[in-house]
Formats: sequence, C-alpha cells, structure tokens
Amino acid sequence: MRRPFIAGNWKMNTTRSEALDLVQGLRQALPHGNSVDVAVCPPSVYLAPVAAALEGSAIGLGAQNMYHESGGAFTGELSAAMLLDVGCRYVILGHSERRHILGESNEDVCRKVHAALTAGLIPIVCVGETLQEREAGKTSDIVAEQFFGSLAGVSVADASRVVIAYEPVWAIGTGVNATPEQAEEVHGNLRGILASRFGAAVADQVRIQYGGSVKADNAAELLAKPNIDGALVGGASLKAAGFAAIVQAAAS
Ligand code: PEP
Repeated sequence: MRRPFIAGNWKMNTTRSEALDLVQGLRQALPHGNSVDVAVCPPSVYLAPVAAALEGSAIGLGAQNMYHESGGAFTGELSAAMLLDVGCRYVILGHSERRHILGESNEDVCRKVHAALTAGLIPIVCVGETLQEREAGKTSDIVAEQFFGSLAGVSVADASRVVIAYEPVWAIGTGVNATPEQAEEVHGNLRGILASRFGAAVADQVRIQYGGSVKADNAAELLAKPNIDGALVGGASLKAAGFAAIVQAAAS
C-alpha cells in the first residue's frame, strides 16, 4: 500500500511573510494523524525561515530545483547538500516550467536526479505532455521519453526512493484538470514502464503524483484512482484551507 503524498509548489508566488503565514495556517488546518505525507516547496530564499517555522510539525520541506554539481563556480545555483543543510527532504526536478521556459532537457534533469539521490534527497521528477502533443496522440511517447531520459542510469535500489509527478502541461495553472480517467490512463502506463525498467516491486512502491489544477473540489475523485498516489499542487497550495482540504481528501 503506497502512502499518499501531497506536495505544495509555491513557485515564485510568496513573499517571506506570506510564506510564514501560510506555514502557520497549515499547522492549524492540516488534519492530524499521519496517513499522508505532506510537503511544501517555497521559493529557495525562504527555505531556511520556512524550515524553522515547520519545526516540530510533520510537514516536510522541498526545494523547487537544484544544480547537479556539488560545489564550485556555478553562480546562482544551489547544490543538493545545501538543500539538505537547510532542512529539505525533497526537491522538485524537471517541472514543466523549467523544461519549457528555462530549457531544461531530460539530460539536465537526469544529472540532477543522480545528484539528489546520491546526496539523500527525494526527487519529485515531473513528466507531462503539452496540449499539442496530446492532440497529436503523442502523450504516452512523450511521457515515456521523459521518464526514461530523466531516470537513465538510476539503480533499482535508488529508484524506490523516487517520486514521479505526472503533470500535463495543459493542465498546469489553467484551471482545467485532466479528468480522473485521463490521469489514471497515464499513471497506469507509468506504473507499467516503472515495472519494465525497475521491476514489479519498485513499481509497486513508487508514488506517482498527479499535478495540474488540483483543487479541494476535484482532489477526491482524482485521488480515488488506483494509480494516483498523491498530488503536486500549485495554485491551490497557496491557501491553507484549500491545501488542507486536498490533504484531507488523500487521507480518506
Ligand atoms: C504545478 O505547478 O506543479 C501545478 C500543478 O500547478 P497548478 O496546481 O496551479 O496547476
């Protein structure tokens, strides 16, 4: 039985005081009990204050990106060790905004996945097709290509620590979520390619989140699908009550 995992991607959308208020709100609003893993991913400059504000809570901390090198002359970048040092447990890698706006390739994502796993971070590896690709019937090819490219060379032992997020680009920030059936079809395919690449035991263990306009009012039906093990939430993670309702949907 896979433990549901709900993560909030705050992107570049909070000030320091909004981030701290959000943590306070989440500490009060999140359902008690520990049947769901929950994490928040604030802007990198607020990781340290958010880590301090999360102290003593079960909410995990994640970064939105990192660089694959462990140190050196890489102006503006952050290493996996630095993220661990400020209290991160997770790092989002290959988010579609990084792939499509900032030009990250599968090879870039793969280098980061290896560096994250080596350092002991849990990578949340994002894959997903554009609307044009979906309309051209290429969804499964694109998702498989991103999956194999981003996880090339990952060992079976390491693979069980990876989280996959299926995020159709056309559903991110648009208010139009994939239907539970559309999402389940891709998640089922991903489970199959996980099994072919890493074996049935790993495929059974790895959590596959859905991301793309998840809200309090559509979370339950998405999360009810057998291969949807959680959600990566953007806009709806910026309000404590709405995010808590999504966590509640995962718990029940
Ligand atoms: C995301 O950015 O990962 C995301 C899923 O955003 P939203 O929930 O706003 O669509």
